[in-house]
Amino acid sequence: SSGYTLLRDPHFNKGLAFTEKERDAHYLRGLLPPTVISQETQVKKMIQHVRQYQVPLHKYMAMMDLQHNAHGMPILISQERNERLFYKLLVDYVEELLPVVYTPTVGEACQKYGSIFMQPQGLYISLKEKGRILEVLRNWPEKNIQVIVVTDGERILGLGDLGCQQGMGIPVGKLSLYSALGGVHPRACLPITIDVGTNNEKLLNDELYIGLKQKRATGQEYAELLHEFMTAVKQNYGEKILVQFEDFANHNAFDLLEKYRSTHLVFNDDIQGTASVVLAGLVAALKLVGGNLIDHRFLFLGAGEAGTGIAEIIALETSKRSNVPLEEVRKHIWLVDSKGLIESSRKESLQQFKRPWAHEHEPVKELVDAVNKIKPTVLIGTSGQGRTFTKEVIEAMASHNEKPIILSLSNPTSQSECTAEEAYTWSKGRAIYASGSPFSPVEYDGKVFVPGQSNNAYVFPGFGLGLIMSGTIRVHDDLLLAASEALASQVTQEDYDKGLIYPPFRNIRKISAHIAANVAAKAYELGLATHLPQPKDLVKFAESSMYTPDYRIYRSKVVFSGHASCFQR
Ligand code: NAP
Ligand code: MN
Repeated sequence: SSGYTLLRDPHFNKGLAFTEKERDAHYLRGLLPPTVISQETQVKKMIQHVRQYQVPLHKYMAMMDLQHNAHGMPILISQERNERLFYKLLVDYVEELLPVVYTPTVGEACQKYGSIFMQPQGLYISLKEKGRILEVLRNWPEKNIQVIVVTDGERILGLGDLGCQQGMGIPVGKLSLYSALGGVHPRACLPITIDVGTNNEKLLNDELYIGLKQKRATGQEYAELLHEFMTAVKQNYGEKILVQFEDFANHNAFDLLEKYRSTHLVFNDDIQGTASVVLAGLVAALKLVGGNLIDHRFLFLGAGEAGTGIAEIIALETSKRSNVPLEEVRKHIWLVDSKGLIESSRKESLQQFKRPWAHEHEPVKELVDAVNKIKPTVLIGTSGQGRTFTKEVIEAMASHNEKPIILSLSNPTSQSECTAEEAYTWSKGRAIYASGSPFSPVEYDGKVFVPGQSNNAYVFPGFGLGLIMSGTIRVHDDLLLAASEALASQVTQEDYDKGLIYPPFRNIRKISAHIAANVAAKAYELGLATHLPQPKDLVKFAESSMYTPDYRIYRSKVVFSGHASCFQR
C-alpha cells in the first residue's frame, strides 16, 4: 500500500514519528519533512497546542482535529488524523483533558455541533433506513466491533432534545473514554445515533439541520425501528456485542432496558452506570461519616433514570448487607420530582419506575420542606436543573447532620444542583461533596476542599472491559455491584484525608483494570462468562487486554488495510 494512504489512515498514521526505516519501507519519502521526532515530543507539542486555547470549546476542537479531522494541526505533530496520538494524550493528561472531551465541554460542543461538524464519526440510522439496518451496519468499515454506544438524542446530558447531529457528540465522546480509560480498542467501538425525528423546534426550523425534519416517532413506529436495530446488531456482531444505551429519554430508556436485558448484552449508563458509581461514592463516604448503609436516609431531587437507578442499587446493596428485605430498605429512600415529593397519594398517576418509592407521607411541594421533614443524611441531585440546592436547602441539610453528604450529579456544569463553593460555604465546610461535572478546589475558612467527581465515567469503561474480556453475554445487577465495590476499594487513606470519596482520575487505567477484573470474576461465578477457562489472575489479564496508544513499529511486511492481522486486542 502507498505511503500516501498510510498517512491518511488515522489508525496507522504517526506523522513525523515515522522512522527513517519506515519511511523507506512504506513509500513515505518526500511525503514528510525530513525531521523525525518521537511520540513523546509529539505529545509535548500537542498539549502545548491544546493549552494555548483559552476557550474550552476550542480545546475540544483541537482534540477532535487530532482524532477526526486534522486541519490546523501543527506540522510537527501530524498533517493528518492520528488516533494513537489522540489517545496517548488523553491517557497521559487525563485529569486535564477529561473536562475537554467529556462533560462539561462536550455538552457545549453538542449544542454547537452543527457549526463544527466535519466528517462522519459514527453511524446514522434514521427512519429512512427502516428495513435495511443490517445493510447500514455492514457499511461501517470496521468489522470486529465489541461495543456500541447508541443514543436517540432525546435527553442529551441535562440539555434535552438535541436531535440527530447534536446528539452524536455523546456516543463519540463516551467511546473515546472506553478506549482511553478502559482500554477497549478504538476500532472495536462503534458510535450510533438513531434518528426518529426531533421535537426541538429550533432544529426543526433550521434549514441547515442535518437530521430528519419531523416530530419524533413514538409508540409502535419507534419500537419497531429499535427492534430491527437490536436484531440486526446481534445478527451482525453476535451474542457478545455490548450495546450501551446513552441519553435516551426515560419514557423509552426503562422500557428498552427491560425489553432487551434478557436477550442481549445491554447496559444503560444513565440508569445503571451512574448507580454503580454513586453507590461506590456512598460506600466510601461511610468511612468519613460512620454508620452502615442501613443507618442512612436518602433524598433525591429528580426521579428519572439516574435518580431511580441509584435509589434501586442503594436499596439492593443495603438489603444484601443488612439482611433487611428490599421492601423495607426502600422506605429509607425518598425522591422528589417536578411535582414534589413522591408519596402514596400520587401512586396511581406515577410512571412505573417511580412507584416503588411512593411511601406513606403527606404531600410536600418544596425540596427544603422535604429535607426538614425527612431529615435525610444524604441529598442527591439528579434533576438536570441547575442551582436547585439553594442556600436554604444546604443549610437545612447541615442543621440535621454533622457531615451532610451532598451530591449534585446533573451535567453539564450549568445544570449542577449547586456548585462546590456553595456546598462548602453554606454547610460551613462540613459537607462531603461530589459533583457530576468537575469543580476546582474551594478555599473556605483557611482550608482547601477538593470536590470529587461523581460521574459514570468511573465505571462504564472498566465495566465494559470486564464484560468483553470474559465474553459475558448478559448484564446482571450483581455485576454492577461488583463494579461499585471495586471502585470503592480504590479510594486510599490519602484520598479520605482530603475528604474525597473517589480515587483521582489520574489512576483511572488501574481503576478500570480492577473494575474489569471484579466484574469478570462475578460473571464467571454466575456462569455468564463464555471465555473459558477463566484466567487465573483477572487483574493482570485485564491489564494485558487493554489497548495502549504507544506507537508500534511497522516492519516492511505489515499490511495496512484494517484487517484482523493488525488488530490488537
Ligand atoms: P430524567 O430521566 O429526565 O430525570 C429527570 C428528573 O428530574 C425527573 O424525575 C424530573 O421530574 C425531575 N425534575 C425536573 N425538573 C425538576 C425540578 N425543577 N424539581 C424537581 N425535579 C425535577 O433524566 P436523568 O437521566 O435522570 O438525568 C438527570 C440529570 O442527571 C441530567 O442532568 C444528567 O446529565 C445527570 N446525570 C449525571 C450522571 C453522572 O454520572 N453524574 C449520570 C447520568 C445522568 P418529572 O419526572 O416530574 O418530569
Ligand atoms: Mn448519559
